[in-house]
Formats: sequence, structure tokens, C-alpha cells
Amino acid sequence: MDKQYLLINGEVITVNENNQIVEAVAVKGNKIIAAGSNETILTLKDADSEVIDLNGKTLIPGFIDSHIHISMYGTNCLSISCKSESIQTIDDLLKKIKERAKETPKGQWIRAWGYNENTIKDKRFPTKEELDAVTSQHPIIISRTCGHISVVNSYALRLANIDNDTPNPEGGKIDRSAKGEATGLLLENAHMQMFAKAGFSEAELSEAHKIASNHFAGKGITSIHDATGYGLDNLRSLQADTQKGLIKQRVYAMVGALNNAQEIVKHMVQAGIFTGLGDTKFKIGPVKLFLDGSSSGPTVWTRDPYTSDSTNYGIHYFSQEEVDELFLPAHENGWQITAHAQGDAAVDMLLNTIEKANQFYPRENTRHRIEHAGIAAPDLIERMKQQNVVPIPNPAFLYEYGDGYVKNYGERATYMYPMNDYKKADIPAAIASDCPITDFTPMRGIHAAVSRQSSTGQVIGEDKTVSILDAIRMYTWNGAYASFEENIKGSIEPGKLADLVLLDCSIMDAEIEKLPEVQVEWTMIDGEIVYNQTKEGGRA
Ligand SMILES: [Zn+2]
Repeated sequence: MDKQYLLINGEVITVNENNQIVEAVAVKGNKIIAAGSNETILTLKDADSEVIDLNGKTLIPGFIDSHIHISMYGTNCLSISCKSESIQTIDDLLKKIKERAKETPKGQWIRAWGYNENTIKDKRFPTKEELDAVTSQHPIIISRTCGHISVVNSYALRLANIDNDTPNPEGGKIDRSAKGEATGLLLENAHMQMFAKAGFSEAELSEAHKIASNHFAGKGITSIHDATGYGLDNLRSLQADTQKGLIKQRVYAMVGALNNAQEIVKHMVQAGIFTGLGDTKFKIGPVKLFLDGSSSGPTVWTRDPYTSDSTNYGIHYFSQEEVDELFLPAHENGWQITAHAQGDAAVDMLLNTIEKANQFYPRENTRHRIEHAGIAAPDLIERMKQQNVVPIPNPAFLYEYGDGYVKNYGERATYMYPMNDYKKADIPAAIASDCPITDFTPMRGIHAAVSRQSSTGQVIGEDKTVSILDAIRMYTWNGAYASFEENIKGSIEPGKLADLVLLDCSIMDAEIEKLPEVQVEWTMIDGEIVYNQTKEGGRA
């Protein structure tokens, strides 16, 4: 007999069609069987029921993070974090690397991530020479916070066969001194190739997934759309680790990689499978490419030059013909298509492809996506609407990187991640963190969507803010829609999967400034409590 939970006296934000807020919910097995008043729910009470008093706190559908890199985040947890409080200067970082070198076998990688030359006291990158002085026995890679740039030591350059004569890879740059010597700084594709070289073992990946999944559960995330990582081996480990229960969230796996995604896309389309294969725990998502650079780099590809540099239009990886050639067959063969497209020129390019796909090979319900869609100019939103495109914006970027956006993109920053424009156009934009590029905490993303405040308090495009209820919908139902699963999850309605989150207060009563402090009391996935704040260490 399936156990029945009757959750009463709550502020239950159902995210149903009418945005109803009710008092109570009944869960049986892995399904929600009813939602409504305390009275109606209590009529379901039987010998197998456990009644739980929510004490007026908010119950919501589990958060769906529609663009997150679980493997990257998890492996970051195994690496040195430059975002840690204890690293304020380059010297602090070098000390950490030295400690790590002592416990790392010779020849194995030492990896650090989250570096930001703007926030470190020295206001620059460490040099290759500084890294060489710490250890000559290990390759070292320090990835920038954007995930598109890194600095490495001489050992790593040797491993990658990069010397003074090595040409820049397509879409990438090996930074050089005046004398033509590689400085160790690698940009875009040059970084991506090095990052792939510094790969993790299968056991390391599983450990990483387990850590990451527990962290996500602690913040109320019950489904993730994985935005790819280290390639096809990574896809296999994602599926295996979900099956083993090391990853507790439901996974919608985009197909691609941080490096050389085009080969994987081609290969997978030829393999004869397509988007939607799998079950409610693990599903094959869209094929994904990278079209341009990062919003904070700043390296996004823009139609007009940067406000901060009138000669800079950013960086892009492909021609229109190349994108069409990869994506039109994918669309024709039943794949949802998507790409990282941050600048308005990149979004434009992806929309061109989507328009051709829908025109030449019409099929129903394609829901092609655009990851980030950073500079979402009004004309681009119009075209998204016409093509039934689902954009996946990241309002939390405004918090961490918003001041830089204003500096680099000027007026354009006011319509970056414009949640209210999407709402007005009735486009089901699904909020995502893009963790580890920024904090995965959904309450942080909700606060950013509601306030559009940068970390220094600057409000960027006030007319693009949305209400708390809207933001919750964008973090739940819209995410389910983006993976064709709005019939089974994303709201609290009878028949849907029991993926639920209890917050530690009434969110409707919370002040906007306090939203990032709202905690998760427990997280339920598939009818099972997978995180419980009141239990030791949060383990259920
Ligand atoms: Zn991403």
C-alpha cells in the first residue's frame, strides 16, 4: 500500500492555470492526488495517512533549473574554488595550489575554477611563470568564472603541444607575449580544448554528481536540464548515475559538449535517436551548440559594437551555413534544437536557422530553445513568439555581472533577460542558473527576476521585473514546458508527479530584499523526501 501524505495548513502555490493558492495537498506514492482546502484534503484520511502541518509556510512545485551543468559544478566541488572567501589575492590562490600539489600524485591535474580578475585584489590573471614557480610536477588549469577563459602553466601547455608556433584554433585564441611566446592565457576554443584535456575519470564524475545532486536538493531543485559538459562519456555517466540514484533530480540531458559539440551533434543525429527518449527520471533533450562567447567575458557576439570598445563585436564560433547544416537535419529527424546564444547577433543567427527549419520541414510542437538569449532585443522576441521558441534566460546573471553589462553593453543591458517582456509576449521563458557560472540557488534567481538588482544595488531595466508568482512559474511550469513535460510536472495538480518543496516561511509575506535568505525546509522528489533541513546534515 502506498503511503499517503496529507499536507495541510500551507500556503500552497499551485502554479495551475489560474495561479491558485490553496491550503492543502494530498500525495500518494509518487503522485499528487489532490489539492484544495484543508477540509477536502482531510476527508482522504485513512489508516495509511500521515498528516503534516505546514504551519502557514509556502509549498511549491519543485524547482526546475532549465540550464545547469551538473558535471561541471560537481567537479568544481572537487577542485579549488577561486570564489572562496579565503582567496582574495593571487598569492592566496598560489598557496592553495601549493597545498594541493603536495597531496596530488605527480603528473595529475590541479584544477581551480571561478577566477575573476575583476574581483581579485591584484586585478589581473596569475602568470604562467607564477604557476610554474609553485610546481613543475603537475599540470595546472585555472578557469575563469565565465567558463570560456583559463590560464595554465608550462606543464599544461606542453601536454597540449602548444608552443610558439602553434596557430590559434578556430574560434579561439592563444594569448602571446610581444615576443610571440604563449603566456598561458587561453580564450574560448583554445580554453575549451585545454579544459577537455584536463578531464575527470568516471569515478571522479560519479563522486561529483553525488555531491552536486545533494547540494541541488538542499535548495529545492527537483529537475535539471543538463547543459552538457565533457562530451559523450559524460552523457553516459549522467544516465548511469541517475539510474543508480547518485543523481536524485530528474534529468533532461542536452546533447553536446563544451568542446567540439558539432561532432557530437552530427554523431547523435546519425545514431537515429531523437529528443524525448527515456523516462521520467532521465530523458534525451535537445542537441546543443555554442554560438558565441560569454556575457561577462565580455565576449558575446553583438550586432552593434560594445559600448566599452567601439571596435569589439565579440566572438562567434560558426557561420550561418554551418549552423544550418548541423541543425536542419537535426530538426528534420525529430530533435529539439538549441544553442548557447548570448549576444543579439548570435540570437539572430539561431532564429534564422529555426525559421528555416520550421519553414522547410514543418512539424508540430517543436519548442526549439535558445539558451540564455542574453541581449533579447524587441525584434528578436517578436521572432521567438512567431516560431514558438522557448528562451532560457538567467536573471541571476544580473546580480553577479549586471554592473559589467551596463559598462560593456550600455542601454542594451536594460533588456537582457527581460522576464516581463517574455511574460507580455506570452512566451514561456524558463529561468535557469547556468551554474557553475553563477549560484544555483533558485531563491537567488527569483530575487533577481523580481528586482533586477546587481550586487551593488544597481537596478537594471526596472520595467522588465516580474512578480514573485510569475518568477515561480518561470522556475517550475515553464521549465516543464521546455522539456515537453508540463503534463506530468511543473505544478501542484492531481495526477502530477510528487516533486514538492517546502520553504521555511510564507513567501507571499516575505519582503523582496529578504528573498535570497528564504531557505528550503524539505525537498520531495517522486514522493520521497530527499532533503530535510531539520535532520542532521540535511539528509532525509
Ligand atoms: Zn551553460
